[in-house]
Amino acid sequence: MPMTLSKTQLFAKVIVDAPLPELDYRIPDDMLVAVGDRVLVPLGVRKVPGIVVEIVRESELDPKRIKKIAFLLTDTPPLPQEWLEFTRFAAQYYKREWGEAAVQVLPPFFRKKPGVRYAQSLAKIRELKKKDGKAQAQPMLNEEQETAVEAIMAARGFERFVLHGVTGSGKTEVYLNAMQKVLDEDDEAQVLLMVPEINLTPQLEARVRERFDRYTIVTMNSDLTQTERARSWLAVHEGRARVLVGTRMAVFASFRKLALIIVDEEHDASYKAGDGLRYSARDLAIKRAHMNSIACVLGSATPSLETWAMVRDERARLLSLKHRAVQGASLPKVEIVDTRNRKFHIFSGDVRLAIEDTLQKGRQVLVFINRRGYAPTINCTACGWVSRCLHCSGFTVYHKRDRALVCHHCGTRYPIVQRCPSCGNPEIEPIGSGTERIEEAIANEWPEARVLRIDRDSVKAKGEADKAFALIHRQEADIIVGTQMIAKGHDFQHVGLVVVLNADAQLASSDIRAEERLFAVMMQVAGRAGRAGGNGRVMIQSRFPEHPIFDALLRQDYEAFGDRLLQERRESFSPPFVYQALLRAEARTLDKALHFLQRALDSSQEIETETVRLYDPVPMALMRLMDAERAQLLVEADSRAELQRFLNMWKGKIVAEAGVEWSIEVDPQEL
Ligand code: ADP
Ligand code: ZN
Ligand code: ZN
Repeated sequence: MPMTLSKTQLFAKVIVDAPLPELDYRIPDDMLVAVGDRVLVPLGVRKVPGIVVEIVRESELDPKRIKKIAFLLTDTPPLPQEWLEFTRFAAQYYKREWGEAAVQVLPPFFRKKPGVRYAQSLAKIRELKKKDGKAQAQPMLNEEQETAVEAIMAARGFERFVLHGVTGSGKTEVYLNAMQKVLDEDDEAQVLLMVPEINLTPQLEARVRERFDRYTIVTMNSDLTQTERARSWLAVHEGRARVLVGTRMAVFASFRKLALIIVDEEHDASYKAGDGLRYSARDLAIKRAHMNSIACVLGSATPSLETWAMVRDERARLLSLKHRAVQGASLPKVEIVDTRNRKFHIFSGDVRLAIEDTLQKGRQVLVFINRRGYAPTINCTACGWVSRCLHCSGFTVYHKRDRALVCHHCGTRYPIVQRCPSCGNPEIEPIGSGTERIEEAIANEWPEARVLRIDRDSVKAKGEADKAFALIHRQEADIIVGTQMIAKGHDFQHVGLVVVLNADAQLASSDIRAEERLFAVMMQVAGRAGRAGGNGRVMIQSRFPEHPIFDALLRQDYEAFGDRLLQERRESFSPPFVYQALLRAEARTLDKALHFLQRALDSSQEIETETVRLYDPVPMALMRLMDAERAQLLVEADSRAELQRFLNMWKGKIVAEAGVEWSIEVDPQEL
């Protein structure tokens, strides 16, 4: 082979899933490559998947060293320019390399080297079985809903809408109507409907399918198999699917003609990725709508403060639904049960009476407690020893049914101890309550009632959760005990009473977002009562009945609550009025992690900035996780642009240290 290059020699710039910039590769003469094509390229000793982002005539690399593209993954259209630009933005914003955002979000099927049966499997993946929706009547929109749909349809170009409606006010109906209009108006238009991780209930999916009988609808979430995910992805990529209903990963789908984005329950924490790129799918959805000049609808009964601030400074238009949509259904009556100075085990006398009354009327009771397991820890009555994880800095949770102490941070299971490992005392007590203990107490007190527990231990697989919810819908359970899992989305028809236990734990939290989250979950769980009419009742047990959060909750007045919190945040210079990022470090010892952060802090001195503030490195709240010691450094700025500018400069100055893993998180939700 002659080493001289022919005149027509072309090179491709390729991104790969690694912390590396775009890499140059030679395009073999017989290979027809386009921008957006997926390829396999040699990297070190391996061949890795990549995406061609540019084709150029010249490369600055030594022609002898430049390698050839090994394989072109054909038979699907290239990734469109819009998708490339969007993933590049996401990478830049979250301070990663482009390939780390783009290649990583492709379904595994489209990252692999095709096997011998590739054509067959691709053909199979192209096959979409049409699932039929079931005979449900479409309600006539009420005036508020009508106004909301009209406003969304009147949007020309990019516009943000916040659809704020109390639980059961018919937000989903608004989404469905707006979607319908967008799809009917343009034969190629596609809609993205985003839902929280836990919320893709069969009920919602069925409702969407039934409504859009004429169109192909696909879903994307972490429960899908690789084949299912590839099938959904390709159908959207090729424009065959008109509607994508999906969790946070869906924001990275490749569309032919994206025309509307809806983010349901936009405040939900599952829109934020916990590792890797650590993106906010809600924020990216807004950005993507902007890039496509289309409308973005953020729906919630309890918008995030970031979103509420957008409403208040008129960056987003507020669409309100103030009443429950079903005839005769009103909002449930909320009562705060003062538990100061009262002696009882789990339920107060009033709550007990209310439970009995509800059961007698043949209606269901939901008991909400945001803690799974039997008890948060066990403790020695003599010396005060408590059970802890050997690998993390947290307690281990007592799971009575599984006869284990389980670390909820790393998953390690320990046998139950018969005697205190510290002093030998045989009397060891569970402290506090979780779902299992509440379930046990209810079974003892109301032995004739059918009790159903729903949490991540009782329903591990998605199918099991669906079955459990079906039991509730069929009224085959009388009292349901559960975590967040029962709070969200479900349109229960027969729940008459909701009891909230242990709200106080969150009120005592030091996290600035704790109150916002507690309000959201209480509104949501309260919203499960009385949905089909016949009055709903909500009882919240608390030792702080005078806390202002309850005042807004009693009146179900989110606006007052949101405005008060915004005022507090403004006065305390907190988000959304400041913009934050974290530099995190993990090492074998805390000293090492802190040392790394201190050096990074020192290196920031060289950067000129007026409004960026850096704080001292500190251990993280959960200091040790899986034997790694963790510390962090908080960066704050008065504007997003300032923060981004600073991080771009700082990133290049941070010097890696052996044995320290570090990452930057932009817009952290937990400090
Ligand atoms: P949200 O999403 O706000 O919780 P949904 O859209 O699920 O509310 O609506 C709650 C209930 O009200 C559903 O059973 C739905 O079918 C019903 N509903 C919605 N809009 C109307 C309407 N205009 N007339 C009658 N019922 C309605
Ligand atoms: Zn002891
Ligand atoms: Zn652990």
